[in-house]
Amino acid sequence: MADRYLNFTGTAPGRLLTRRLGLPQPAPLRRWSAEQPGFSGQLLHFSAGPSSYRGELSELLRRTGLDVRGSLSGRGPEAARPVGVVVDATAVTGPETLAEVHAALHPVVRSVATSGRVVVLGAPLSPDDHHQAAVQQGLEGFVRSLGKEIGQGRTVNLVRIAGPVSAAESTLRFLLSPRSAYVSGQVIEVGTPAGDVAVPDDWAAPLAGRTALVTGAARGIGEAVAETLVRDGAQVVLLDVPSAEADLAKVAERLGGRALPLDITAEDAGERIAGFVGEDGLDILVHNAGITRDRRLANMPADRWSSVLDVNLAGVLRTTDALLKAGAVRRGGSIVATASIAGIAGNTGQTNYATSKAGVIGLVRSLAPRALAEHGVTVNAVAPGFIETKMTAAVPLFIREAGRRMNSLGQGGLPVDVAETTAWLAAAASGAVNGQVVRVCGQSLLGA
Ligand code: NAD
Repeated sequence: MADRYLNFTGTAPGRLLTRRLGLPQPAPLRRWSAEQPGFSGQLLHFSAGPSSYRGELSELLRRTGLDVRGSLSGRGPEAARPVGVVVDATAVTGPETLAEVHAALHPVVRSVATSGRVVVLGAPLSPDDHHQAAVQQGLEGFVRSLGKEIGQGRTVNLVRIAGPVSAAESTLRFLLSPRSAYVSGQVIEVGTPAGDVAVPDDWAAPLAGRTALVTGAARGIGEAVAETLVRDGAQVVLLDVPSAEADLAKVAERLGGRALPLDITAEDAGERIAGFVGEDGLDILVHNAGITRDRRLANMPADRWSSVLDVNLAGVLRTTDALLKAGAVRRGGSIVATASIAGIAGNTGQTNYATSKAGVIGLVRSLAPRALAEHGVTVNAVAPGFIETKMTAAVPLFIREAGRRMNSLGQGGLPVDVAETTAWLAAAASGAVNGQVVRVCGQSLLGA
């Protein structure tokens, strides 16, 4: 559904009027396009404290093709507008070095280009050093606050480096690109992959040679996920309920994928998927299928409760178990499940939906370390906020308008934003990202 307010504020009179009235001024977000797949321009790289990563990180950032610099070039109106700033705060261990984060960003933050990126690198919280833990936790508050005030479609995220810094390349490339347009205020931990850090032959096709199964792919977010995975080089199997077979076949034909009409709640869904993909198996499993059946708990009959729990949680648990048991998700593979900010914040009328989506988060957190150790497979979740789909178009006008604006970017996300995040998590190069729940919500105020 068109966001008329965003279109209006994009015009000169719209900007003038909304500024006069003190209304929100969302900036059109720069997303991936075939003509302009990445940013170009300056990337500032600063260190706070004596980081041991400086040289390696600088090399890594240069490989993105951006013009990496240690200071802003030019002064006053002549100053460059960097497309991004990376502040390496991994060596911040006390309040004195924390001040260096302020010192790095304070003079340049205003200059960051529209739709630009700020990425702060942090370290895991030390259980033995409460000074280190205090200031590293402090970075979360810093990033979330800057994300709320920075405006102009710019995003701010924190990446905790818990393994080799080289394992963070895919994550940094994602966050420093238009692909992460609707991801802000997030804390993402990057650990150690099961084997060597995978480096794709071509970063423009990081999923080349991988086979993915996407559930709920006949429309909406699932269709966008399948399309984005294909763009990034994957072969896709598209699954949806038999009643959506005609739409599913159209999507499969358009994307050169294979359609599998199947209800994910079937007892033997996992076995049937394993049979369909055969010996080749899968590299990527995207649990996207989901339903809502809203009612306040006092008015919610048992069948409304159970239908949502069956599709959104029980079906995900059962098929995941069956596919892992059958060895149908190959080593180096990725499972990406779809949660929701409703599963984090809760939502009136959605006790069933929020329970199921919080359940998905629990599944990810528990299974991720075991799946990596036993199967060499990562397990992560995306948690979409307000995404412009048929689901949200059905929401009453005022609630819809509130949902759209109640985030730092002042607008709803698009299905492609969830798809981009899924594609990043699905790449072999992201093998060090495990057990993470990444919100695609424009830093929604809900559950923040
Ligand atoms: P949608 O209703 O447009 O699409 C969901 C698809 O899942 C449909 O094609 C449907 O047929 C399929 N599906 C439903 N039950 C199924 C089953 N039993 N077996 C197989 N397929 C089944 O929804 P969407 O907006 O594209 O949402 C996709 C996912 O994102 C869902 O998990 C949803 O909960 C989640 N999500 C959406 C939003 C949003 O703002 N739209 C926000 C948070 C989370």
